[in-house]
Amino acid sequence: MIQRASLDELMTLVDPGKVLTDAASLEAYGKDWTKHYPPAPSAIVLPRTVEQVQAIVRWANAHKVALVPSGGRTGLSAGAVAAKGEVVVAFDYMNQILGFDAFDRTVVCQPGVITRQLQAYAEEQGLYYPVDFASSGSSQVGGNIGTNAGGIKVIRYGMTRNWVAGLKVVTGTGELLELNKGLVKNATGYDLRHLFIGAEGTLGFVVEATMRLDRAPRNLTAMVLGTPDFDSIMPVLHAFHGKLDLTAFEFFSDKGLARILARGDVPAPFHTPCSFYALLEFEASTEQVADEALATFEHCVAQGWVLDGVMSQSETQLKNLWKLREYLSETISHWTPYKNDISVTVSKVPAFLRDIDAVVQAHYPDYEVVWYGHIGDGNLHLNILKPEHMSKDAFFASCARVNKWVFEIVERYNGSISAEHGVGMTKRDYLGYSRSPEEIACMKAIKAVFDPNGIMNPGKIFAPE
Ligand SMILES: Cc1cc2nc3c(=O)[nH]c(=O)nc-3n(C[C@H](O)[C@H](O)[C@H](O)COP(=O)(O)OP(=O)(O)OC[C@H]3O[C@@H](n4cnc5c(N)ncnc54)[C@H](O)[C@@H]3O)c2cc1C
Repeated sequence: MIQRASLDELMTLVDPGKVLTDAASLEAYGKDWTKHYPPAPSAIVLPRTVEQVQAIVRWANAHKVALVPSGGRTGLSAGAVAAKGEVVVAFDYMNQILGFDAFDRTVVCQPGVITRQLQAYAEEQGLYYPVDFASSGSSQVGGNIGTNAGGIKVIRYGMTRNWVAGLKVVTGTGELLELNKGLVKNATGYDLRHLFIGAEGTLGFVVEATMRLDRAPRNLTAMVLGTPDFDSIMPVLHAFHGKLDLTAFEFFSDKGLARILARGDVPAPFHTPCSFYALLEFEASTEQVADEALATFEHCVAQGWVLDGVMSQSETQLKNLWKLREYLSETISHWTPYKNDISVTVSKVPAFLRDIDAVVQAHYPDYEVVWYGHIGDGNLHLNILKPEHMSKDAFFASCARVNKWVFEIVERYNGSISAEHGVGMTKRDYLGYSRSPEEIACMKAIKAVFDPNGIMNPGKIFAPE
């Protein structure tokens, strides 16, 4: 724990009242959405300026205090968790949009800007910020950059990385670096901006981001299609991909749909029972596009790949169809799911899912497994639900044994143990299934350059030595 005198010094570095040590704040800011690790930070500090962030980092180096960057704390890998007496640095007071350039189509954001705030701002300018997912009402731009967040539109727009035109970062030594300055073209050596994207706060703090915007999509239209089995989803993806510019291609299982419908506030897409469902979205910018979508649907039915389907005819129907997918994560959180966020190249998905499903069913026949995910990107979310009668600790201990088997399969398929949620603490012991010892050594060497004293989010990505 930190000495009282050190904390008193920290208080002089930020605005009055912006160092919190009360129990409720320590509890709230010390954890993220994972809730596996009991929060135990020493203090929470809320800077208002870049200079204050630099002063906090210099103070932490002088006192050998670990810092945990904290965004909206919607992370699913315990990347923002402070469980060992760290000081949490939260960006609630650095949440302004600082500038917009219509010609460059860029927005300058402080790190605490909420993702939905950026989306709404883009809409006000007649433009579009395409990174989107169920937690965008709470997650922050700084956290999205820290995790290189993906979400539901990656098939068309890519990950957060694609939208970062420039970054200001404060490194683990307190230096301020201005990276790429919003340029489209910049062939002047290593692009350090990309090292900070997805670094999970282990190299330094994102203190400002210049984000790109795109043109607004026209007449977004969704279809939900029911398939007899998982294997049928892939030819459906292939058929639609060949005909339309898809903006999303998601999937969920019948078990996932059942959990959503049990809520009582989301209408069923149709009543034909199906094993799996695909949700796809495209811009129906002309009548021909909508006709093409219907013709492709009929082709899929004729081939036996699709049993039933529906296409949105209004904004309300579009929203209702999306709720079937977007409410899943939050709905099943009631059963404290054991989550995995794995990926392979799209062509390998059917065999990969079959192998993993077989392992999980063989070892845990009594647990309910809910599959869903961003299948158009080869990203599957495996969720094992906790039986009501079982304690959280016993359930997680028993599921931890699955990891090894699942990750051995991931390794065999040259996949990733974390497609978009990050490594944090939950996946750090398994990094070797996706990265070679040589790669991990390079990553550690890079960390040592930006954070020689190891004060930036220690214990995240890499297991403590
Ligand atoms: C219901 C639900 C659905 C989700 N769906 C998706 C999805 O589809 N796709 C997806 O990618 N994720 C998804 N997530 C996960 C999560 O929302 C994302 O990882 C998001 O990017 C986290 O942002 P945050 O602001 O909450 O970050 P936090 O959880 O606060 O932090 C995440 C990481 O970023 C670091 N960090 C935070 N701020 C900074 C900063 N200013 N500088 C440097 N590092 C920083 C933290 O230390 C931590 O390592 C979902 C989560 C929930 C709860």
